[in-house]
Amino acid sequence: MILPRLLMLVVLAFDAGPRRPDYSAPPPARGLTCSADPTIADALLRQGQRLGIAVVAGPPELPGRDASYRAEPGRLGTITLKQRPMSAEVRCLLISHEFIHVLQHLHGGLRGVPPLGWGAARPQLEHTGSLQEAEAYTHQNQAGHVLRLLQATPTQTGSSRPSLR
Ligand SMILES: [Zn+2]
Repeated sequence: MILPRLLMLVVLAFDAGPRRPDYSAPPPARGLTCSADPTIADALLRQGQRLGIAVVAGPPELPGRDASYRAEPGRLGTITLKQRPMSAEVRCLLISHEFIHVLQHLHGGLRGVPPLGWGAARPQLEHTGSLQEAEAYTHQNQAGHVLRLLQATPTQTGSSRPSLR
């Protein structure tokens, strides 16, 4: 009988829900980096657009910073990038950094921004005093890994934003 099997498959798919990647998996030792290929930044932005993250140009919310991510409770938030002359590599690092905060937000089920568990270098920890920030600074060059995790993230329902600005 084919009908019961189909029904079971539907039920199983419904129970499993969209599969989320393991955000706590640390970057590989020899992954693609901003230093090697700064154009990954554009792929990151495309994934952000797919997931409904607004990326806006303007003054970041934190004074003295070049970029910020505002996490909204229950839905993905907004990345703000300062418009200033910068190298493609620095732009890639900034964008990758903010998308690590997006991954932290996804890792926290959109209810918080917990560290992913990738680890953080001591100088970054001492400088920022925040494990989440130190994690983002320590791994911001690992844009290929950030991109893969974003690509593996299912589109969130109810969080779509109009467009990339
Ligand atoms: Zn940060």
